[in-house]
Amino acid sequence: MSKEERIPETGLRAGDREGLEIALAEAQAGLLEGGVPIGAALLDSDGRVMGRGHNRRVQDQDPSAHAETDAFRKAGRQPHYRGTTMVTTLSPCWYCSGLVRQFGISRLVVGETRTFHGGHDWLAEHGVEVVVVDDERCVRLMTEFVEQYPELWFEDIGEERP
Ligand SMILES: [Zn+2]
Repeated sequence: MSKEERIPETGLRAGDREGLEIALAEAQAGLLEGGVPIGAALLDSDGRVMGRGHNRRVQDQDPSAHAETDAFRKAGRQPHYRGTTMVTTLSPCWYCSGLVRQFGISRLVVGETRTFHGGHDWLAEHGVEVVVVDDERCVRLMTEFVEQYPELWFEDIGEERP
């Protein structure tokens, strides 16, 4: 199957599933480091990994080190982002949605949107191709994390704990 060929009815392309596995592995690595378990990978137009990373808020004491920004930085400087795909385990926050739009990243593959509803709808409205996988493993990872570390979660999404 060519990389451009779609997997019927899912909107996924070849490489997206592998990208999600990488993002999930990054999220799990972040959890083991005591961090917020969100992972991401930036794929080129052929589905190859340009950069991968995870939320590093706790590890680096850096509230701007989100999974998507970490993967984006690891990909290094690029002339453009046309045709690239940001794969993330969780719906992107406004900051990361802004990054996708700012740099013209063409596609967004989201592991899940149930535990957090970020800017994926907004990105779709602005021409980004958005695919929500609704992966149970991503849901479980975030659900358990939010239950166990509510303070860290609300700090990460910039909200006060109710
Ligand atoms: Zn973010």
